Amino acid sequence: MEAIWLYQFRLIVIGDSTVGKSCLIRRFTEGRFAQVSDPTVGVDFFSRLVEIEPGKRIKLQIWDTAGQERFRSITRAYYRNSVGGLLLFDITNRRSFQNVHDWLEEARSHVQPHSIVFLLVGHKCDLEPQRQVSRQEAEKLASAYGMRYVETSARDAINVEHAFTELTRDIFQLVRSGDITIQEGWEGVKSGFVPNVVHSSEEVTKSDRRCLC
Ligand code: GDP
Ligand code: MG
Repeated sequence: MEAIWLYQFRLIVIGDSTVGKSCLIRRFTEGRFAQVSDPTVGVDFFSRLVEIEPGKRIKLQIWDTAGQERFRSITRAYYRNSVGGLLLFDITNRRSFQNVHDWLEEARSHVQPHSIVFLLVGHKCDLEPQRQVSRQEAEKLASAYGMRYVETSARDAINVEHAFTELTRDIFQLVRSGDITIQEGWEGVKSGFVPNVVHSSEEVTKSDRRCLC
């Protein structure tokens, strides 16, 4: 059966090289912990449906940096066409936490006049004994930026679903309230595929029913 979703959201995952971005995306989209042997080759986007409320599905299109972050050569288009992002650091690598600020600045400077809804993610939380950044400190930073904070592990599948689902819900609320709107030529949010029958949900407007097959 054809997959049906209300919207497609495009998300980016940023943060220092080796913090675990590719593994987190793979855990979420493929359900396994896959070592990424060569980060510079291969498919650079992944997709998956998430159900944010019973019967309400959102298609996520998730972009991986394919290694460009090592050279800080992430293109403007990568940021501009995204509605949301996971900003990762590795809880066992203090430097990656210190660099969160730079990543955010870079994203913000590239994305204007749009803005990206970010979630701060402390990754590799299975490595508790090697922790260099406390949860409290990370939560403080996240709240200073007005973001949520989540700790994840791709290796042990901790909070991976939660991280993506919470971010998707937050974006959905902003779309529903009109703070984020669908724009021609912008890939961040697209109307989804809803069958051409009368839909019972009040939240589905006429434009939501457009079929982008
Ligand atoms: P990227 O450069 O940010 O895309 O990082 P990768 O996803 O390629 O991961 C870098 C390294 O961190 C690899 O050796 C992974 O096996 C390891 N890694 C990724 N996620 C986790 C995790 O949740 N826990 C642990 N212990 N290691 C992880
Ligand atoms: Mg990678």
